[in-house]
Amino acid sequence: MVKREQIGVFGGTFDPIHFGHLAIAEEARVALGLSQVIFIPAAHQPLKGRVPELSEQRLAMVRLACTDNPAFRVDDLELRRPPPSYTIDTLIHLRERFGTEVELWFILGADAAQDLPRWHRIEQILALTRLAIVARPGHQCDLTALQATLPALAGRATLIHGPRLEISSSDLRRRLSEGLPVRYQLPEAVRQFILTHQLYHYREPPQ
Ligand code: ATP
Ligand code: MG
Repeated sequence: MVKREQIGVFGGTFDPIHFGHLAIAEEARVALGLSQVIFIPAAHQPLKGRVPELSEQRLAMVRLACTDNPAFRVDDLELRRPPPSYTIDTLIHLRERFGTEVELWFILGADAAQDLPRWHRIEQILALTRLAIVARPGHQCDLTALQATLPALAGRATLIHGPRLEISSSDLRRRLSEGLPVRYQLPEAVRQFILTHQLYHYREPPQ
């Protein structure tokens, strides 16, 4: 039997994108044999209190970060829709684009997985995509416990143990605004973009 094409879908705020994001996407690509991973920056993730600004810049940084991986794609479809950015709408769109023949894998970190029971139309999401839940330092993910509250998850989620990088956008935003180094936590082209556009109140740390 011919194996169906496997495609990764990676939604996030990416404010800014960092090596934690890129490393889990690559881990999922290899673990699941994905032909491509589509990065989709959200306009506003409904479960996040903070409404991100910088839509155009977040998108530009994701593009810069993804250029050197031939399997990584970037799609601005959520930024073109009025917020909030519901994953279900994105998946319906991608199903129309790719048809029913491909297998979709939505990639998310263990912290985001804990919120799954609260996602808008989660049962319908799970009918359209499988989930690749990737380990994240400081966050446990117990699939059995999660399935007890969300039975539709059964057989639809895979845990990936991942590279476990302890990097987060919120910590990077804090470091940037406090003049602390961020080098080696995100692509250099992204750091340069932040510096050039003076994002997150960034001042270059002392040489
Ligand atoms: P913030 O601190 O602002 O929430 P973040 O670093 O968590 O930012 P998001 O854009 O919120 O980044 O995350 C997008 C997706 O990537 C989520 O599914 C999140 O769980 C996952 N993710 C982000 N960083 C990591 C990491 N270091 N390890 C594993 N998963 C991660
Ligand atoms: Mg987050």
